[in-house]
Amino acid sequence: MNNEKIWLSSPHMGGEELKYVNKAFEDNWIAPLGPNVTGFENDIREYLTQNGSSDIEVAALSSGTAALHLALILLGVERGDEVICQSMTFAASANPIVYLGAIPVFIDSEVDTMNICPEQLEISIKDRMARGKKPKAIIAVHLYGMPYKVDEINKVAKKYEIPVIEDSAEALGSKYKNAYCGTLGDYSILSFNGNKIITTSGGGALITKNLEAKKKAIFLATQARDDAPHYQHSEVGYNYRLSNVSAGIGRGQMQVLDKRVEARRNMFHFYVNLFRQIEGVRVFKEPSDDYFSNHWLTVIEIDESKTGGLDREKLRKYLEAENIESRPLWKPMHMQPVFNHYPYYGTGIAEKMFQNGLCLPSGSNLTSNERNRIEQAILNCFKNRV
Ligand SMILES: *Cc1c(COP(=O)(O)O)cnc(C)c1O
Repeated sequence: MNNEKIWLSSPHMGGEELKYVNKAFEDNWIAPLGPNVTGFENDIREYLTQNGSSDIEVAALSSGTAALHLALILLGVERGDEVICQSMTFAASANPIVYLGAIPVFIDSEVDTMNICPEQLEISIKDRMARGKKPKAIIAVHLYGMPYKVDEINKVAKKYEIPVIEDSAEALGSKYKNAYCGTLGDYSILSFNGNKIITTSGGGALITKNLEAKKKAIFLATQARDDAPHYQHSEVGYNYRLSNVSAGIGRGQMQVLDKRVEARRNMFHFYVNLFRQIEGVRVFKEPSDDYFSNHWLTVIEIDESKTGGLDREKLRKYLEAENIESRPLWKPMHMQPVFNHYPYYGTGIAEKMFQNGLCLPSGSNLTSNERNRIEQAILNCFKNRV
């Protein structure tokens, strides 16, 4: 029997990537700038604005983490400032706050999208202001591709005049009220890491609302060189630009992005159908037609009181024994040893989701054979209740 490892999410090339990479070699554009970088930025911009979204500018960078770091700098975040951040997320959402010596304030999730809770957000802002500090920014995340409650979050952000950084690392191709994720924050970021919906092997992008902000981001991302014939610096800079070779991979990947979204959504529907037969398992889906998720990863929540005691760990270990990768949800930041001394506002929703949630293999390149193996393993696990 073929028992090769089934991955949660693996790179999936489209075929044209090498064409752009070869061109970079032919023209000797082996550098963190060049025609692929500019072309990739244009591809992303065209994609995100195709529904007539408000205009944006795209700066291709070495990672999504770098993009978050620059967004915080552009918003003037400094040592001792407070920055609000969704607790349930990947550590990369929060790490750049600490790079700057600022203080993360973590917020619980709500149950509909698993993302930052608007009520807890407002409670936290009021409390931080009462303690003498108004938060400098809000980092909201479209986890697993599911858009956060954009209108509700923006309403609170606007009321208190705090800018929103939209962490869209997992949500390229997702939409909220027909506007693409990546266009919905004051600043937005994308990631093209190897496990994301499309990849440049490693890379990211910062999305700004105007050319001035993009120029400032690129200035900072290229060592903050002043306009002088010699090397002159009045500010601290970074080396954060995307390689022209990597951007070539990105250009090829942009051509197949919609296919990748469709394939991930098909995996989601596959799981919806599968778990229809199984009691006590909820497949996480869009709360209404306002939301369109790329379903980067399909997430289930297990209620062990209805599955005869079969919990998330038992299912995960069963799949592991079948050489099928699955993974618990992101462990909330306020529970992490490195962050658990920072302020947190919530009612335990993210904790419960972390306890009972599992991400299932969702790659766009899973074959029907692999889907059959996943289906059989899950059905067997629930039949035997191991
Ligand atoms: C992947 C990811 C990032 C960071 O992106 P990198 O390109 O890996 O630096 C940030 N936020 C979230 C939610 C992510 O999943």
